[in-house]
Amino acid sequence: MNASKTDFDAIISGSGLVGAAIAIGLADAGWRIAVIEPTLRSQEAQPSHDGRTLVLNAASLNILNAIGLMDSDLSPIPIDTIVINRLGGFGHLNLTAKDYVRFIGEDTDQTAPYFGKVIVASALGQAMLKRLTAHPNVVEYCPERLVSFQMYPSHVEVQLASDQMISGGLLIGADGTHSTVRQGIDAEVDFFDYQQSAMVFNVASSQPLPHTAFERFTPQGPLALLPQANGRYGVVWIDRHEMIDTLMSCDDAVVLSKLQRRFGTRLGKFSRPSARARYPLIKQHTPDVTQGRVVLVGNAANTVHPVSAQGFNLGLRDAAALIDSLVDTGAKSDTSLADMAQRLERYQSIRLPDQQATCRYTDTLARSFAHPLGWVRLMSGFGLAAHAASPTLKRRLVRAAMGFREPVSSLARPYLPPTRPIS
Ligand SMILES: Cc1cc2nc3c(=O)[nH]c(=O)nc-3n(C[C@H](O)[C@H](O)[C@H](O)COP(=O)(O)OP(=O)(O)OC[C@H]3O[C@@H](n4cnc5c(N)ncnc54)[C@H](O)[C@@H]3O)c2cc1C
Repeated sequence: MNASKTDFDAIISGSGLVGAAIAIGLADAGWRIAVIEPTLRSQEAQPSHDGRTLVLNAASLNILNAIGLMDSDLSPIPIDTIVINRLGGFGHLNLTAKDYVRFIGEDTDQTAPYFGKVIVASALGQAMLKRLTAHPNVVEYCPERLVSFQMYPSHVEVQLASDQMISGGLLIGADGTHSTVRQGIDAEVDFFDYQQSAMVFNVASSQPLPHTAFERFTPQGPLALLPQANGRYGVVWIDRHEMIDTLMSCDDAVVLSKLQRRFGTRLGKFSRPSARARYPLIKQHTPDVTQGRVVLVGNAANTVHPVSAQGFNLGLRDAAALIDSLVDTGAKSDTSLADMAQRLERYQSIRLPDQQATCRYTDTLARSFAHPLGWVRLMSGFGLAAHAASPTLKRRLVRAAMGFREPVSSLARPYLPPTRPIS
């Protein structure tokens, strides 16, 4: 086949939040994009766009702004205060965005500074799918599934479950933790099973603290409460599988009283819980995410523990850097294999340090606070106390959590942290 005769410039397997973001960014730059997605478009059917509450950091908000997705329908709730502590132990960290205003940079909408914003995944997912469906440069194959693919020097040929074949200059594996594309390139994976699950739901609070997020570490796992609209909080409750199984089968009153006991009364009394969803937790880091004309992004490349709300933020930084690497260099479907491989290797070398650091950071947090040995948990308490006492450590923590680890891609840039030290 002649390279210029491919059906598409790029084929994206998976239209979860990361695949959809890349599809929009590349299609806006004039690329002809195919998106393959097995799950039907309705909100209920799409597990990637479910009711989970996502904390988006400043870099992610910039990226979503840059690709035109932060319209007012999403009603994101800003977080200006983060309270981190340990159940039954010392160590307490209170981070307030106004203390970091020069570090965070100018606020884009001239309101108070914030660390990030909370958004419900289903609202963002629906906004993305609307853009995809209306985009003249995007062809959606849905419900459809990538079954296998074959790489040639001039293109990639993808076999769909319906037996149809489509071709493209690039295959982007955005097909999640159990990625078929990753298996197809036989990529080596660093895997760890936390033997934990996350239970996600939301509750009303009688004394909400506006714009304040809480993360409480317990020996069984962390508990996060994230502000939503109308005095409600998104709850991410992490514990051993057996405990989450039990909680999933309890009635609402029992879950509310257990939540109250674990969290305390800082937000008053909890009531009116929503339905609960459950996710088993693993770590999966893929050091080598490219091969020839194939690249892995988002959860297909790196699945992290949700302890510090980094997974989608990391995937969006992948998305922005990939769009940068391809669009800025004018790559298209007729790009030679050597050129494409070089662009993807450059993308990988730019992204690898951030991917490694984020995986390591979330893994350390997830393991140390829940460690069976008391002295390891004690050291975690010292870690929190040290961060509380040291402005330098706090700044480093905030900088990484906001997604501004260098190099920062152009889409994430609208406001950059200053490079000189801040007192
Ligand atoms: C409880 C919990 C809370 C979280 N909170 C946060 C948070 O606050 N902040 C944050 O940044 N991150 C958070 N995350 C992580 C975040 O949800 C994920 O990182 C993100 O959704 C991954 O998106 P993705 O598009 O890479 O993968 P996915 O969402 O898994 O999407 C993959 C897509 O590929 C499709 N697919 C699968 N197989 C195929 C195939 N063969 N062919 C074609 N398509 C296929 C699937 O149907 C799916 O639509 C949280 C995760 C959990 C579990």
